[in-house]
This record gives sequence, C-alpha cells and structure tokens, in this order.
Amino acid sequence: MPFNRSLTIALVYLLAGGAWILFSDAAVERLVRDPAMLTRVQTWKGWAFVVVTAAVLFLAMLRQFHRDRELFERQYGQQQEIIKLSEFQRSVIDNANIWINLLDQDGRIQLWNRAAEEISGYTSDEVIGNDAIWESLYPDPEYRQWVRDRVFRILAGHEEAEGLETSVHTRHNGERVIAWHSKAFRDVHGKVAGSIALGMDITERKAAERSLQARERQMATIMDNLPGMAYRCLYDEHWTMKFISSGCRDLTGYAPRDLIDNQVVSWASLILAEDSVSVTQAVENAIGSAEPFSMEYRLRRADGEVIWVWERGRSVEDDGGLVLEGIILDVTDRKALEARLSELATLDPLTGQFNRRETERILQEEVARAERYERHLAVLWIDLDHFKEVNDTRGHAVGDEVLRTVSLRLAESIRTVDTLGRFGGEEFIVVLPEMSVEEAWDIAERLRRRIADEPVRVSAGETLDLTISIGVAVYPDHAGSAANLCRMADKAMYQAKERGRNRTVVVSEVPGIIESDGA
Ligand code: GH3
Ligand code: MG
Ligand code: MG
Repeated sequence: MPFNRSLTIALVYLLAGGAWILFSDAAVERLVRDPAMLTRVQTWKGWAFVVVTAAVLFLAMLRQFHRDRELFERQYGQQQEIIKLSEFQRSVIDNANIWINLLDQDGRIQLWNRAAEEISGYTSDEVIGNDAIWESLYPDPEYRQWVRDRVFRILAGHEEAEGLETSVHTRHNGERVIAWHSKAFRDVHGKVAGSIALGMDITERKAAERSLQARERQMATIMDNLPGMAYRCLYDEHWTMKFISSGCRDLTGYAPRDLIDNQVVSWASLILAEDSVSVTQAVENAIGSAEPFSMEYRLRRADGEVIWVWERGRSVEDDGGLVLEGIILDVTDRKALEARLSELATLDPLTGQFNRRETERILQEEVARAERYERHLAVLWIDLDHFKEVNDTRGHAVGDEVLRTVSLRLAESIRTVDTLGRFGGEEFIVVLPEMSVEEAWDIAERLRRRIADEPVRVSAGETLDLTISIGVAVYPDHAGSAANLCRMADKAMYQAKERGRNRTVVVSEVPGIIESDGA
C-alpha cells in the first residue's frame, strides 16, 4: 500500500514536471522573441517550478509528520495501557491466594503463580516447561496416575473439575488438601491449547471439618449410650419431637422416626391423661422462672405397658421460637421400690413416731395379748383443737413444727410399754397396755394438761396456746377389737369437741358417758 501510493505520487510528479517543461517552454518561445530575454524568462520559470514543488513538498511532508506523530502518540498510549493491564493481570494472578497454573496439551507447566510457589514450595523457575513436578506433588504412583488421568481428561476437553480435592505433597514434606477448579482452554481455531487450574488450599477447613465430624460422632455415641433418651422438641401442644436419641426404642417401644414430627404418635399422646396437666404446668412454671424443669410422670409404651419416667430439661431459644431439650429416664423400678419401702416403713416421716399402719399392727398385737392374759388395754384418740387456725395464721411450716413439738411432748409423757402413733393429719393415738378406765383417764388428763399448760414456741420469743381433745376407749370395757376400740375412742373424742374441746371423754360400757371437765 505505501509502495503503490509512493509510485503514484512519483508518476504524477513526473507527468506534471514533463508537461510543465513541454508546454511552458513552447508557450514562452512563442511569446518572447528576444533571445536574451527568453533565456532569463526560462531561468525564472525554472526557479518558479522548483519553488512551487518545494512548497507543495513542504506542505505534504508537514501534514505527514503531524499524522505520524499523532499515530505514534496514540500507539504509545495504547502500549502503555496494555503494559499496565498485563501487569495488573499478573499481580492478580500472583497475589490471589489461589494456586493458579496453566498446562500445555502435554501436561507441562506453563504458568505457576506465587500462591502455587508458596503452597507447594516449588518455584516457577523449577516447574515451568516440564512435567517432573507431578512426581514431586504426587509421590504415590497409583495416586499420581489417578490425578494425571483426571488432568488429561480435562486436557482432552472431555470434562471439567469442580471442587476436585487432591492431597498434595509439598517440598517441605507437608500434605495440603487442594480443591481444584479446572477446565481446558482453546486457541483461536477452537483447538484445545491447554488447561487452566485454580486450586484453593482447604487443609485447615478440612481439619476443622474432620474435628467437627469427630465431635459429632462422639456426641452421637454418647447420645446413643445414654441411659434413657435425649430429646429436642417444640414447645407446642404435641411436644413435637425434632430430635430423639436411639434410647427412645428401649424407653417407649417406638423408633425415633415414629415420634419425630409426630409421624406415628406424638409425645403428648404417650403421656397418661391424668399426668398431662401437671407436666404442662411444670414446664410452664420452669419457662416462667427461666429455670430447668424436672418432673415425674407416667407414659404408655407401644406395647401398652405403663412406665414411670423422670424428665429433666430446659427451654432454649431457637430461631425466635422456644424449644425444649433434655433427657428422660425410665424410673419405674425406682418408683416400685419407693412404694415398697413406704409399705415397709413403720415411722411417720414428720414426727418420727409410729405411722398409722404400724400403730394399728401394734394395737392388734396388744389387743390379742390383753385377750390372752385377760388384761385391760386403753386407747387414747387425740386431736389438736383449732389446728387449722395455726396453719392459716402461721403457715404450714409452723403447723408442721407444732405437730413435731406436740408429738414429742406426748411421747415424753408416756411409759416405754405404751405406744404413740400418728394416725394422720393432727390426730394421734396412744395405746396403753394393762390400763383400766380410771388409770387411762388419769393418763389422758395428764397429757391434756401437759399440752395446755405449756405454750408451744413457734419462733424466737413467740408462743402459741394449744389444747387437745382426747377420747378414751378401754378393752374389754368398751370394745372387744382393735377396730372397734378406735371407733369408740374417736366417738368419745368427737364428744369432747362437742363439749367445748380441751377435755377428755371416756366411752362407757354402759349407756352414759364418763365425763371429765378441763382442770
Ligand atoms: P378441731 O378443733 O375441730 O379439730 O379444729 P381443727 O382446725 O383442728 O380441725 P380439723 O381437725 O378438722 O383440721 C385438721 C387440720 O390439720 C387440717 C389440715 O390443714 C391440718 N393438717 C393436717 N395434716 C397436717 C400436716 O401434716 N401439717 C400441717 N401443718 N397441717 C396439717
Ligand atoms: Mg383432726
Ligand atoms: Mg383438730
């Protein structure tokens, strides 16, 4: 193109010059006849031609120079931009915390960025242009073969890697886990020219994942081996289970999945109807006071058997809603044992005196003995007067304390052969072997006075005036059996209440009641 243009310009110049010489000479010769003058005109004509062509040449060259300079400046600017851009790309490639390498079609390294150098320990000078690096990175031949197979499938354009994890052996004998994203790239003709791979070092993340998994496994082992079952449930009317440990099977006979999301049954439906209100109440109270809850209730198992369970848990916030977490244990055996123990117990836990069952047993024994030896036997039925007021005005705890004090005083005031028992509430019984009606009356009066004369201390410096009413029944005078003796004594006590309390009333064998007014 430049050649053609130059040739055209030269030809135009040749033609214009030739034409000028031919025509101007002919015209001048025709106009100027004087030879001396003709010579001068031709010289001037020659100079004029030279000046005009010099001026044209000057203008043309000036224009061209301007154009060239503009072009050069534009090109220079573009070049600078390209340099900057490639520097930027280079710095991105190098500074990205991502291992970047390019491979050619034969698997030789073409680009090896700074992160690749730092993670692997091999410099780009060592690895570029050869494929010996594969052996260093993957010393195990089988593993190396597996990795290379994947790489060559990518280089063949058959597949791409997305998050492919490999374990890379570094120069410093470390192992790093790299997650690879890799694909082939093609030249302008669409032919695969190599592959590019981005590798993320996920060694720490993998280690964290592994330790999390180990902890989860540990937790699962603990959960599965817990006595009873651990759970997480919604705070709703079904106690909808969200997690249940495998202990559920032993406890309820249902598999965890039967209960989770109420698939087969809800937890609420397993709770015995009589206990469900108290369960709800216990949980509500605990949530209200931000305390853990602990309760015992009965469950109906899958096989219909009713068991006692003990549950301890707490409420936790979860995504704005409330959930409950805790454990549930089967305490059926303990409950049975407790029931058996209370059956076996002979003492009343509040006062330490004999309980009703034991007192009845002793009374029966004593009646049998009295019968056998034809002796007397007296029963005193004792009830505290206006005891409700004590509870109402002083509280139940003071009431309990009063019961303990009274029982202690009664116990102190009888013989060792006598028996004091708490019959329930604030009612006591005294069994007095070998005691006639008169003697029993005397004893009863002594007890009554002991209580009435000595106010009970309820707190520092505070006392309560207390009285008791007593009914007296004597074997064989008033009844021939333990049960009847009790009934008669109770009736006599009722008479004492009727007659104004703080008194002793003896049941008489014969119609009429032997009566004793308070001292
Ligand atoms: P009365 O003179 O007619 O006997 O009047 P009272 O108030 O004593 O009436 P009653 O014997 O019917 O009431 C018994 C009260 O005893 C009712 C109950 O509140 C109380 N009580 C029963 N057992 C206990 C207990 O174990 N501890 C306490 N603190 N109070 C009890
Ligand atoms: Mg009573
Ligand atoms: Mg009473």
